[in-house]
Amino acid sequence: MNRIVYVNGEYLPEADAKISVFDRGFLFADGVYEVSSVLNGKLIDNEGHLTRLHRSMNELSLTPPATNEEIETAQKTLIEKNNLDQGLIYLQVSRGVADRGFHFPENTPTSLVMFSQKLNILESPYAKKGMTIITVPDIRWGRRDIKTVQLLAPSMAKMAAKAAGADDAWMIEDGYITEGSSNNAYIITKEGTLVTRHLGTEILAGITRKAIMRLAAEDNMKIEERLFTPEEAMDAAEAFLSSATTFVTPVVSIDGKTIGNGTPGPIAIKLREFYIEEALASTK
Ligand code: PMP
Repeated sequence: MNRIVYVNGEYLPEADAKISVFDRGFLFADGVYEVSSVLNGKLIDNEGHLTRLHRSMNELSLTPPATNEEIETAQKTLIEKNNLDQGLIYLQVSRGVADRGFHFPENTPTSLVMFSQKLNILESPYAKKGMTIITVPDIRWGRRDIKTVQLLAPSMAKMAAKAAGADDAWMIEDGYITEGSSNNAYIITKEGTLVTRHLGTEILAGITRKAIMRLAAEDNMKIEERLFTPEEAMDAAEAFLSSATTFVTPVVSIDGKTIGNGTPGPIAIKLREFYIEEALASTK
């Protein structure tokens, strides 16, 4: 790989890009991140991602390393320098470099790192065949509404899914599905109602989720933002998940129990099409 990456105002070949071993992102997972998808060389839903980035920084008293305009300019420059047509821009803000200690250091500049990654989002094989999901206990901390870089629990969830021969994991707390390891979780009941967990500190407020909910409402779908159990999900007509890099991806089984007839459901397919149509239109 020979990308140009962004580190604190500089564009560097990835082999030359360095962060200190004392960076608190490295030592304490003291940092937040965002992932914006790219279609036709254009950022999708980026305003939402930058707004959430600011909220995450604010919740952790992280000083923004740059203005939104500066960040977006750097994101676009990376797309250009790396000739990125389809994929993602990852960006991370960490509290910066300080002697190791639990208290947040004062007067330490936050650090900003960004890189691009190619990914075929539109032609993902999972869009066609759907994903198989297992459920795992949600062992994450209590502020999942903040998009921090502490991603060991979701990594373990995805490894458990892999070991079980499944594609991904949804997490369960107090008997209810919170969200996916790196996505929001939805079901369509047999009555055709779209159900997804309400927002709160237990889940991340997905930027894609917001768009999907709007598109579903515009299509006059009945929507309920509420708790739902794995049993209700297994008994649903359809299930699907959403994130910036998967858009809407159908779910065809949960813990080995087939959802519907085991193929992507019509509403998941329709919502994916709506989302892609709007995203592509925004690149024109
Ligand atoms: N929940 C979690 C835990 C995630 O990691 C993600 C992906 N960042 C999402 C939900 C979906 O959020 P978005 O649509 O903004 O990518």
